[in-house]
Amino acid sequence: MSSTPLRLRFLASATRLGQLPDSAAEVAVVGRSNVGKSSLINALANTKQLARVSNTPGRTQLINIFEVADGGTIVDLPGYGYAKVPARVRRDWPEMIEGYLLEREPLVQVMVLVDGEIGPTPLDQQMLAWLRANDVPHTVVATKADKVKSSKRPARRRDLAAGCDLDPGDVVWVSAATGAGIDLLRSLIRGHLAT
Ligand code: GDP
Repeated sequence: MSSTPLRLRFLASATRLGQLPDSAAEVAVVGRSNVGKSSLINALANTKQLARVSNTPGRTQLINIFEVADGGTIVDLPGYGYAKVPARVRRDWPEMIEGYLLEREPLVQVMVLVDGEIGPTPLDQQMLAWLRANDVPHTVVATKADKVKSSKRPARRRDLAAGCDLDPGDVVWVSAATGAGIDLLRSLIRGHLAT
């Protein structure tokens, strides 16, 4: 399967929900710091510089919004669990992310990134439980698939899905490094934005 890259254009950074521009439909990407979120957004667009890889803590506090050329927007939410930011900022994060997830009108789907090599952390599990409890539509995307040896993949797929309370077929596995799964994820995102 092959699909053309998502044509993404950086629109704006925001610290508050009210600062975000209108959108016809929006897909949000969320995950703990270092999960590979920036690399994945760059891979979706087939570029190296759209989202910053290995962001400095200052940048990770922002909601970054990208316009998709075919219509709709993609939002890069601040990574959670970054140890090096001041406690005050860390405390504000859940409120900002939760406010966005509950109140953002155009939001149609949340892509929750989980590190494919290490599986869901307690913070990831907390995020998933919260999304379920609040009926926020979401998909689990396992990143860094290339880091899992092929001999270990079947067991890893089962374990990661179980850790997320899902069936293995419900998890989308991707690698920004090799491009595996990126076409599928692009199609899923296009489908969500077309609704
Ligand atoms: P973010 O903090 O979630 O935005 O994560 P980054 O995109 O900055 O990636 C964190 C680290 O993981 C960087 O060193 C990346 O090079 C690495 N990384 C990201 N995606 C992949 C992947 O698909 N495969 C491998 N092997 N490394 C990756």
